[in-house]
Amino acid sequence: MKRLALHAIRSCGMFSLSRHLSSGMARVLMYHNFSAPGIKEPGALNVEAARAQLAYLRRHFRVVPLLDVAERLSSGKGFDKNTVALTIDDGRLSCYEFFFPLLQQFEIPATFFVVSSFIRKEDWIWTDKVLWLSEQPNAPTELSLAKINAFFRALNWMRPEARNEQIQTIAKRMGIVIPSEAPAQYAPCSWEQLREMADSGLVEIGSHTVTHPIMSSITDEESRHELIESKRQLEEGLGRKVRSFCFPNGQPRDFRSNQIKQVRDAGYDCSVLAHFGLVKSGSDPYQMPRVGMGSKSESIEFSKFLDGMAYYQHELKKLLRPIVHPQRA
Ligand SMILES: [Zn+2]
Repeated sequence: MKRLALHAIRSCGMFSLSRHLSSGMARVLMYHNFSAPGIKEPGALNVEAARAQLAYLRRHFRVVPLLDVAERLSSGKGFDKNTVALTIDDGRLSCYEFFFPLLQQFEIPATFFVVSSFIRKEDWIWTDKVLWLSEQPNAPTELSLAKINAFFRALNWMRPEARNEQIQTIAKRMGIVIPSEAPAQYAPCSWEQLREMADSGLVEIGSHTVTHPIMSSITDEESRHELIESKRQLEEGLGRKVRSFCFPNGQPRDFRSNQIKQVRDAGYDCSVLAHFGLVKSGSDPYQMPRVGMGSKSESIEFSKFLDGMAYYQHELKKLLRPIVHPQRA
């Protein structure tokens, strides 16, 4: 029903209208993981759907490097019409295997935000460890599809050591040892692959911390270290300057305002969050909102988000919230 209504709205020209109305705002798109042709994996965008998204972007938008968006914000210049920047978080191998060839095919630039300890193979990403445990045949109910998001929320607010202990406790209860190296689906890109992408001129490599902590769960001293050390490690491994940063999880409660200043002080030119929104000409280049595109596999769904229809729905909901739920205003 909802899909039928969306098709009807699109056929009335409402999607093109919302694209036109929102053309002065930039969209920063967010991706995480990709799956092979014909393979459906939870949390991964199938490569065919990714190709359809890029074809749509090529047809209707102007895709620029994220640093260009940040530069326009810093200099106070407005955006060119229908500006879009692409970002891919964490640094998984699937992004190189499946998404990079598409970027080359469509000649579309993108920023890859990578976790430096993950690339150095010192550890793999803790959120992937939880997902991997949830895929095991004897996964407990707290890792079921219905409950896993609540479990993640609970882990987000823990100190990193308590969070890791909790993950190990679950593995022990399941009688499983978490492998020290990431399984294929969660494996990292190599330094060579990152350098190859950066050398192509299409890909910028940014930092996504050393260990992927939720920044509000660690001390100021620790967050400063995550910012400075990840930059240092990446610059050493890539032989290039690292200029942009991405907050892990990136929701409003996942960082403190002084940590935004820490990003700037550490020498980054911009940073992105993960909460939903479009970038306006007065937005802070260190707090750019993004549009999650990793689960949008059908054209009606992704055009709703790319064309700005979802943005206007979101804004309307915010406007109506005090009327519909006066107690929550
Ligand atoms: Zn991440």
